Amino acid sequence: MGMGCSVDFKVVGDERGIYYDETSRCVVYLNKHENIEDIYKTIQHEVIHYCISANDVLIDEGQEEKLIFNIQWAEHSIY
Ligand SMILES: [Zn+2]
Repeated sequence: MGMGCSVDFKVVGDERGIYYDETSRCVVYLNKHENIEDIYKTIQHEVIHYCISANDVLIDEGQEEKLIFNIQWAEHSIY
């Protein structure tokens, strides 16, 4: 495990967020969000990318996005 990740915010960008593995840095683009809850979701999404990477989980990009999607929707899909 490393020293954790950082989360930067930028006002304008083409994506909702991105995670840079080389620097353990998440960037969240505010213009792609509707409200604060939406921003929290993206922060969580990008930080989960960090967690997966920090634990050397052997999955490909498609599996990783699906895993994060399922984690984020778990509260709604389990009950
Ligand atoms: Zn992602």
